[in-house]
Formats: sequence, structure tokens, C-alpha cells
Amino acid sequence: MTDGYAAMGRTMSRFGGNTFAWFTRNPRGGRTKPVIPEDVEALITHVKNEGFGPLVAHGSYTMNLCSAKAETRANGLDMLAQDLARMELLPGNLYNFHPGAHTGQGVEAGITQIAEALNQVLTPDMHTTVLLETMAGKGSEIGSTFEELREIMDRVTCSEKLGVCFDTCHTWDAGYDVVNDLDGVLQHFDDVIGLSKLKAVHFNDTKNERGSHKDRHEKLGQGFLGMEAMRRIAQHPALAGLPFILETPNEDEGYIEEIRTVRSWMNDGK
Ligand code: FE
Ligand code: FE
Ligand code: ZN
Repeated sequence: MTDGYAAMGRTMSRFGGNTFAWFTRNPRGGRTKPVIPEDVEALITHVKNEGFGPLVAHGSYTMNLCSAKAETRANGLDMLAQDLARMELLPGNLYNFHPGAHTGQGVEAGITQIAEALNQVLTPDMHTTVLLETMAGKGSEIGSTFEELREIMDRVTCSEKLGVCFDTCHTWDAGYDVVNDLDGVLQHFDDVIGLSKLKAVHFNDTKNERGSHKDRHEKLGQGFLGMEAMRRIAQHPALAGLPFILETPNEDEGYIEEIRTVRSWMNDGK
């Protein structure tokens, strides 16, 4: 969503949800709109009154902390620093971003640059948890294996400010079998990263076969994951209580319907 802060909260209540995501700036880059303090305060009040869970901001797709181009890396670091400063207006929430694409430098160099950037902006006194998103592995994307995410986290000093956002479309596209072996995938996540680091779920079906490294989201139940697997994910005890964010290709009516479905699954699972 890209409206004012308070308007996003009201819209989500109308849709029947109790968390939401928004792009901190135009997803394809560009400037941020000025923040109106009363608008942020109104959202904070709304979130409290309506009993929302943590909100999950999304960094710009153009932010690449490990581009081969120094200028792109520097711009990415600027965006990240500005976004995190702004997140302090909404303390206690989550900020998710795509770790980056190494654009030919190699995974090792990319991981080093991402960790260096995070080391410049994460501080012990900040009030936001920054999430690395599990990626599909399109092009030279970093973060399509749990091991790569762990490697980044290991090199970050304030790693207590870091977590992971599990994107169901991306993990499948990356090759993890969340349909036939959800327990095994989550066990592997626990072994490599630790489930305590899992802070949010991007809940999407996918248009592509497992291991395709494509990253194209589908409506719930209409892709390769299918309704049954989506239900098992929503009801998995390891994911209970986490914010589930829909990034499915829908209009308002479609989201309202999907939110209703996901909430009924979660209530059944209790
Ligand atoms: Fe994302
Ligand atoms: Fe995602
Ligand atoms: Zn995606």
C-alpha cells in the first residue's frame, strides 16, 4: 500500500486484516513523501485500538547493497539509512528488504557488501527489526538459500536487530519443497538460521515450478503450491502468531477474500 499511514491502517481494518505491508518509497525507487507526524500518530493509535500485530515495511526493489556499481551501492545505503530513520517513528515494527543481487561479483563478495552496509546502519538502540527476505534466486540474487542468509547474519555485529522474512513463493522457486516437505524445510531453516529469527511470512502462491528461480507470485491456491499446501503453511505451529503478508496479484475484493480464508485457517488450526 502507498497511501498515508493512518489510511493504510483503516483500509486494512476494512479488509479484515490485522497487519499490513507498505513500500517505504516507490517500489521502483525515487523519493519518499514527507511524513506528517499526526498521520503517523493516528496509525499508532489505530494499530493499538484494533490489536494489530507488527507491521512489515518493504524496502525499495531498486535498493541493491551489493551491486557491482559503487554508486548503486551508495544509493542503496542512503535509502536504507533514511528508511530506518523513518521507521523509528513507528517503533517496534519490522522492515523487510531483498538482500541484493551481486551482478557478477560473486556470492562471497555480495554477502560481504550486504553485511558491511548493515553494519553501518544497525545500532543497538534502534526500535526496528530488519528482515532479510528469502529470495527466489532470480539472476544473481543473494538469499535463495538459508545458508546465504545465515552467512550475512553472522557478519553483522548487531545481529539481534536482524531477522528473516519467509516468502513462500520465493522459497519454492528457490527449490525448497514447502508443498511435500514443509516440516523438513522448516527444520532445515531451524538448523541453519534458527526459527527464533523467523519474524514474518510473505504468503504467496507461485506461477512457476519448484526450483525455477523465477519469482512470479500467484493468487492463493491458483499456483503450484495449491490450496492444501497453503493451508498447511498457515496452520504450521512453527509459524503461529507471525504476521502473514499477502503479495498476491489481486484487487481489493481478492484480498478481502484471501484474508478471510487465511484467518479461517488460522482459527481452525488453534
Ligand atoms: Fe519482497
Ligand atoms: Fe516477498
Ligand atoms: Zn517475489
